[in-house]
Amino acid sequence: MDNMRFFTLLERLIVALTGSVSDESPDIDLVNSILREICMMFRLCKGETCFYESVNHERLGKGEKAVCYDSGEPCVTVMEIRVVTKVMAVVTCSVYMTKENAEQAPLTDEEREKLDIVMRTVLNFVSRGRLQTVVQRLAFQDDRGFRNPRFFQRHLAKINEQQKLGGMAAIHFNLRHFALVNQEIGRKAGDVVMRNHISGLERLLGTDGVVCRLGGDNFVALCAGDCLDSVVAYLAETPVFYDVNFGKRVRISASAGVYRIPEGFVMQDPGEIMDRIITSLQAARNGGKEHIIFYNDTLRERKEKKMRVQQRFPEALRNEEFKVYYQPKINILTGRLAGAEALCRWERKGRLIYPDDFIPVLEETTDICKLDFYMLDHVCQDIRRWLDEGKDAVRVSVNLSRRHMMDIDLLQTIIDIIDSRNVPHQYIEIELTETTTDVEFRDLKRVVGGLQQAGVFTSVDDFGVGYSSLNLLREIPWNALKVDRSFLPVGDDAESSSRFVMFKYVIAMAKELGFSCIAEGVETQRQLDLLRDNHCDLAQGFLFDRPLSVEAFEERLSGHRYSVEHTGK
Ligand code: C2E
Ligand code: MG
Ligand code: MG
Repeated sequence: MDNMRFFTLLERLIVALTGSVSDESPDIDLVNSILREICMMFRLCKGETCFYESVNHERLGKGEKAVCYDSGEPCVTVMEIRVVTKVMAVVTCSVYMTKENAEQAPLTDEEREKLDIVMRTVLNFVSRGRLQTVVQRLAFQDDRGFRNPRFFQRHLAKINEQQKLGGMAAIHFNLRHFALVNQEIGRKAGDVVMRNHISGLERLLGTDGVVCRLGGDNFVALCAGDCLDSVVAYLAETPVFYDVNFGKRVRISASAGVYRIPEGFVMQDPGEIMDRIITSLQAARNGGKEHIIFYNDTLRERKEKKMRVQQRFPEALRNEEFKVYYQPKINILTGRLAGAEALCRWERKGRLIYPDDFIPVLEETTDICKLDFYMLDHVCQDIRRWLDEGKDAVRVSVNLSRRHMMDIDLLQTIIDIIDSRNVPHQYIEIELTETTTDVEFRDLKRVVGGLQQAGVFTSVDDFGVGYSSLNLLREIPWNALKVDRSFLPVGDDAESSSRFVMFKYVIAMAKELGFSCIAEGVETQRQLDLLRDNHCDLAQGFLFDRPLSVEAFEERLSGHRYSVEHTGK
């Protein structure tokens, strides 16, 4: 045994291994060439290591083998070392000789000692290096093998440090209707679709681009600026294979919030980027037509406004800053007041805030329910007062958000409020909008049925703009349909326009089914004529009155007549 040569090789091996630990990719070729020389020196025909993540994996034979040298001859094991690490991973190292050599030139004791040193050195490195990779995987990947948010944060920080964030784009996206995709093609195929979709995206992200999964079907990505157009097109819609052999694929589209990071941008805190893409994704998911929204200052202002509304609401409710405005409903045959709709206005520091600026925000939480009950209560107080003062009180409709449908005590709460103000039930009408889901539909049916029994009127608000089926009319005992103003012909719409035709037949159908029908948003004489020609007897709109303060409305209660003449045009 050439001692000198052995120790030189051992030293070279140690340098090659330890020198590379800090580097993520060791020079495997160099290491293997040294090990190969050592094997030959010891008359070995093969050397290998195997890494098992756990004792259980070892038992099942689920390890990762690395062969440093193999002459290809049939062989027998001559030495084997097995080490169990602190975290119970198992690493083995084995060396082999041809059967001939093992019998005729076996290893001497001295050779065994030397080989032992080499094998332990290799094992030490393998267990450390492999454990590092395992730990990295656990730390930066999720259970499905996608990169996780921690990876994203680290990547952002790295790119930021290199001052390369400016000009790139951050994206937060959600695969739309993915639950339906799973339902349609099965979970397993759904997993394949998700994997393939993300791999397809990864190929488009450009230099320094990454995509990481936040959980479920939510992802974040960083993308090179010049790749953004193709990435956005891909996210908007792309076909994804789930069975290449049979050419089976599904169309996947995403909702996404995109932040174009300005040139020269230096991130102080990852929250700056995350906040912006979360805000834009929320806007994209808020039911509008656009499913991909780019971050801009308006979005930020809108978000701040929303937070202000949410913050101020409880106090405003306590201070009774919300006022009931009444918009008259008119019988167009007689010109008489037939009822009113209660609409909310927020009086804040002498300024009126309109529902569009706060109702959608309150609808994101159950705050809207508090407001609706408040409105109902105040309407009841007004009606009670009119009755007590001997005024010709009319039925008032109160809007109830769909948010209430979750509330199993809803029916009782409504009745309790009306009764607590001692108002006869027929003076109250509840307006509800169409529903989207089966569950809501069932609740709606229960609530409307209950109100009907209690003698409270009910109407479908904004009829025709939601997603309801005709079952809504067949199965639920409404009193009235409020036909949405988008059905009213505008300007000089021809009689053959689809708006005109639908309007006519919706009214005819409602009447045929025995519903009372009211047209909302009547603004012109031409629209009024049309209502009369089509036997829609009730109307509400600026042509007659805007929503009025309670004082102004009370003047309408004493026999006011509206002009409802037919112009005959
Ligand atoms: P809505 O229930 O469909 O109320 C009718 C809306 O149409 C009212 O807007 C009304 O002012 C407006 N309008 C009436 N006539 C005309 C017209 O001739 N032309 C036009 N362009 N508009 C007309 P407003 O008061 O801004 O309320 C908007 C929406 O906010 C309401 O739509 C309703 O969905 C909601 N809302 C208002 N108050 C409440 C409330 O107390 N609770 C709930 N849940 N929602 C409310
Ligand atoms: Mg309404
Ligand atoms: Mg309406």
